[in-house]
Amino acid sequence: MDLVESFVELIRRAATDLPVDVETALREARSREESGSAAAGALDTILENVALARAKSTPVCQDTGTPIFYVYHPLGMSTRVLKEQIQQATAEATARAYLRPNAVDSLTGRNSGNNLGVGFPTFHFEEWEEDYLRVRLLLKGGGSENVATQYKLPYAPLKAGRDLEGVRRVILDAVYQAQGKGCAPGVLGVALGSDRGYGYVHAKEQLFRLLDDTNPVPELAELEARLLREGNELGIGPMGFGGRTTLLGVKIGAYHRLPACYFVSVAYMCWACRRWTMTVRGDEVTYE
Ligand code: SF4
Repeated sequence: MDLVESFVELIRRAATDLPVDVETALREARSREESGSAAAGALDTILENVALARAKSTPVCQDTGTPIFYVYHPLGMSTRVLKEQIQQATAEATARAYLRPNAVDSLTGRNSGNNLGVGFPTFHFEEWEEDYLRVRLLLKGGGSENVATQYKLPYAPLKAGRDLEGVRRVILDAVYQAQGKGCAPGVLGVALGSDRGYGYVHAKEQLFRLLDDTNPVPELAELEARLLREGNELGIGPMGFGGRTTLLGVKIGAYHRLPACYFVSVAYMCWACRRWTMTVRGDEVTYE
């Protein structure tokens, strides 16, 4: 099945159409800030930009980020063919200016010009039990990627032990360290456990959760709500200008780990929380 054009549409939506829950959270944040404050001004500009990008099908931000594809496929579907089609769609979406050419050779500094390169875009494939295909795309901006961080518990500088209080301390530290960078208000995707590499993979997967969902694990739901409240009490505010909204959401998943290791991997997503999901059932393609 040729899905190239459908993948181009997935990329177009991710780059130009900010998800409704993210926009709603930005509007709610705007209503909390003092009129005339720098925070309110920053959020007004962001919201105006979001509306213009959607209306004109132009990128929400000039940095269209690293395209990260999480692909969940049924038994028997070729991941090689899927990858080739997504790569083709990525080059086409770049040609149509939905994506900025962002893939740079690490040795020469040369830009490939079409967002294709060694290990670029990023793919995570998983065969699942369903009989349909689901492709989720995250466009991860560079400024926010630069402030992602990983802690190893125990972490002496913060007296953070291997428990949820220790987890709380290092996550708040991550928000504090990111201030003025990463384009707040942000969304945190966090993975507890796993290994160093997959810690970040799982942390970014958490960013696909809707901002107003509730974690099914009660302790984590409580921690997410507390960190959202405490993160916003730091006063860093939109774009670091000060204000009441530093975070739009905190999403935490717990994964098994080695007894010897306890990593807390924090993926920081900027206000341009660009994520869309495409589902293919037979001939029907839907987006959400
Ligand atoms: S961090 Fe996000 S909002 Fe800031 S420049 Fe990068 S993509 Fe744009």
